Amino acid sequence: MNENIALKAKLLDIYRLLRTRFGYRNWWPGNSPFEIVVGAVLTQNTNWANVEKAIQNLNAADVLEPARLLSLPVDELKRLVRPAGFYNQKAVRLRAVTRWWLDCGILIAPAKADVDALCSDLLKIDGIGFETADCILLYALRLPTFVIDAYTRRAAARIGITAGEMRYEPLKRLFERCLPCDIDLYNDFHAQWVALGKTYCRKKPLCSECPLGGICQFAKSKI
Ligand code: SF4
Repeated sequence: MNENIALKAKLLDIYRLLRTRFGYRNWWPGNSPFEIVVGAVLTQNTNWANVEKAIQNLNAADVLEPARLLSLPVDELKRLVRPAGFYNQKAVRLRAVTRWWLDCGILIAPAKADVDALCSDLLKIDGIGFETADCILLYALRLPTFVIDAYTRRAAARIGITAGEMRYEPLKRLFERCLPCDIDLYNDFHAQWVALGKTYCRKKPLCSECPLGGICQFAKSKI
């Protein structure tokens, strides 16, 4: 219990420092929950600029709506999402996630959502892993689930929150146990970890410029 209280204080301190440096990240970009779902699938293994081109194609074809997207012939969908790379797999994945989206019924009764069950259903879709599933649940459906990524795992280990890089689910559960169950906090904190990983806590870290230098074990060990 005491360990959780100390970790909660540390995590909130990290969030405060990151937010002061990077500002509110305003995630996830998208004009509708369904567009966020599409972005979460297309962003796998590519950068966001490529995702934007694919989303522009889908928008221009007027299929950024679940039923219209599903009515598209799969070859046409592949052509539209081609800029995002791996377009054969992503078109098939997108259709499967869209069918899940139409079937899940969560849009009608979000308060009754069973987050873990929804996550399990998403994980059954070929090519959908924890990170994509949690991004859909948090950013498109606004459900309380903390998204972890490689940046978070690396930075958490260097800072000293974990002993070595922890696997996805244990780290997510640790954060959820220690942080207040606050969707807006989960939303922005994940975005802050990504900003940290891209800007400072890279493979070769820039500790002298990082806002977490004063509380990070790795940085202190280098002094
Ligand atoms: S101080 Fe260095 S190791 Fe620690 S989080 Fe920042 S960049 Fe990463």
